Amino acid sequence: MNEAAAKWPEDFAERYRAEGYWQGTTFSDFLRERAHNFGDTTAIVDGVNRTSYAQLNRQASALAGGLRELGIEQGDRVIIQLPNCGEFVTVWFALQRLGAIPVHAQPGHRRAEIAHLARMTEAVAYVTTDLIGGFDHRALAAGVADSYPSIRAVLVVGDLGEYRGDSRFFSFASVTHGDETGGLTGHLVTGSVSSSDVALLLLSGGTTGMPKLIARTHDDYLYNSRAAGERSRLDPSSIYLAVLPIAFNFTWNCPGILGTFYAGGTVVLSQSPDPAHCFELIERERVTMTAINPQLAPAWLAEKSFTNRDLSSLEILEIGSARLSDHTAREIVANFDCKLQQILGMSEGLFCANHLDDDVDILCSAQGVPVSPADEVRVVDENGREVPNGEAGELTTRGPYTLRGYWGAAELNDTAFTPDGFYRTGDLVRQSDSGHLTVVGRIKEQINRGGEKIAPAEVEGHLIAHPTIETVAVIGLPDNTLGERTVAVVVTDGRAAPTRRELSVFLAEAGLAAYKSPDRVVRVDTMPLTPLGKIDKGAVRRLLEADTAAAVVSR
Ligand code: AMP
Repeated sequence: MNEAAAKWPEDFAERYRAEGYWQGTTFSDFLRERAHNFGDTTAIVDGVNRTSYAQLNRQASALAGGLRELGIEQGDRVIIQLPNCGEFVTVWFALQRLGAIPVHAQPGHRRAEIAHLARMTEAVAYVTTDLIGGFDHRALAAGVADSYPSIRAVLVVGDLGEYRGDSRFFSFASVTHGDETGGLTGHLVTGSVSSSDVALLLLSGGTTGMPKLIARTHDDYLYNSRAAGERSRLDPSSIYLAVLPIAFNFTWNCPGILGTFYAGGTVVLSQSPDPAHCFELIERERVTMTAINPQLAPAWLAEKSFTNRDLSSLEILEIGSARLSDHTAREIVANFDCKLQQILGMSEGLFCANHLDDDVDILCSAQGVPVSPADEVRVVDENGREVPNGEAGELTTRGPYTLRGYWGAAELNDTAFTPDGFYRTGDLVRQSDSGHLTVVGRIKEQINRGGEKIAPAEVEGHLIAHPTIETVAVIGLPDNTLGERTVAVVVTDGRAAPTRRELSVFLAEAGLAAYKSPDRVVRVDTMPLTPLGKIDKGAVRRLLEADTAAAVVSR
C-alpha cells in the first residue's frame, strides 16, 4: 500500500519517461556521476571543512558499508534529525547507496513527532545529534527507541555521552571509520534499486492531525532538482548558501542543495539564519544564491542597511514557504543588489518560481510559474470548476514530481486528491495569463507560522488533555513578524485559563515541538458552535478580531 502511494498511473509514467522528465537515474548513481564530472569541485563547505564531489562520493560509500554492518538494508526507513551539517549530506547519500530511505524530521521535532514518524515508517534507525541549545537529542532518541523497538540503531553525530554503553547507540565517527570505499563501490549496493523506487520520505504540514508522509521517488525528486535549478539558471559556478533547516524540502531541493549538486556547483552550510553570520559567509565564499522565508526578511533588510560585508557576488535571493508581502518584496528589490526570486513550493511536489527576468512588478507580487511544462495546474472553485484567469480559486495540480497519494493514508487520499489525480493544495491563488500564480489565501485548516506549518487539530488534541480546559479552538491570526501567530481559545472548567507559559510547558511535556505552542491564550465563556454542534471557527475568529468583551484575555 505504501509503495503504491508513490506510483503514477502507467500511462503517465510512460509519458514522463518518454518525454525525458524521468531519466532512470537513482540518487546513488547521481552522486557517482557528479564525482565523475566534477570530482575536484567543492561540493560542501561546512565551517572549515571543504568536501569535494569525489570525497563525498567515497565518504557515502564508506558510511554505507558501516550502515550495512548495522543491519540497514534496501527499503529500510531511517529517520534523520540533524542541524545543517555535512554529515546530513553524507548520511543521506550513504542511505541512497544502500537503497534505504531517509525520513526527513525537522530540527524542532520532539517526542510526539518523532514517535509518530517511527510508528508510521517502522524506521530501523535514527540519525541524530548530541545537544542543541541544551536539549539532549540522545535522550529523545533513547526514549523513542524504548517505545519503538523497530529502531535498532541510533547514530549520533557528536558525543555519545552517557549512552556510550547502550548497545543501540553508535557514534558517527565509529561507523564511518576505515576504508573510504567501504567495499561498497559500484553495483554491489544499488544494483537492485530502481529509479521508480521511493528515495525519501518528507513530511506534509498536515491539516487534520499528525503530519502525513510524502514519498518521493528517485525519478521525480531528481527531476525536481533539475527543473528547479534550471529556473534559477544554476551552473557549475553557482554557490548556494543553505540558511534554513537542511531537511526542509525548500532547502534540500528547491533548488537548494540537490539542485546545486545537479548543476555541479558548491553548497555552503550556515548553522544559523542570523544575517550577520550569513553575510559573512556570502562574502567569504562568494555565494551566488541563497534562500530565506519572509519571517527572516526584516532582519536581513535591517542588517543590509549597515553591513560592511561585500555581498556583490549574490545574484539571487530566493524567498518562499509563506507569503511575502508585496511591500517587503519591494524593499528587498530596492535594497539588495540582486534578483528577488519568489517561490511557491510544497513538499508534495509542485514547485513554482518567478523567471529571473520577469518584470519587477511581477517579481514583487507573484510567487512563480510552475517549473515544468508537464505541471498541470487547475485553479478551481468550491465545486471543482476551473475559474477564469485572474480569479481566486484553489490551486490543484498534478505532474511528474507531484505525489499521487500519501504514504500509508489511503483513507485521506480520497479527499486530498481529485478523482483524476490532482493534488488539492488548499492554497487560494490567482493565475495570470502569463501563468504566474499569486497566493491570496488558504482554505486548508493550517497555520503558517513563519513558514513552520501547524495543524490546529493536532495542537487542540493535546490541549484538550489539560485539566482546566473543557473546549479549545486553535486559530491563526495575522502577525507582522511571523505572518501568522497561534491563538488558543479556551473554555475552562471555571478556573482561570492557563497562561501561555503554562501551556508551553504542558505541551513540551507532551513531547510536542515548541513552535506548535500557542502564542496567546484567550478564555471565552462559551465556544461558538455551528448548528451541527461543531466549533464554528469562523465565529471564533471574528470574536478574536473584534476582541470583544466576551473574550476574557489571558496573555
Ligand atoms: P511545505 O510542504 O511545508 O513546504 O508547505 C507547503 C505550503 O507552504 C504550501 O502549500 C503553501 O500553503 C505554503 N507556501 C509555500 N510557499 C508559499 C508562498 N510563497 N506564499 C504563500 N504560501 C506558501
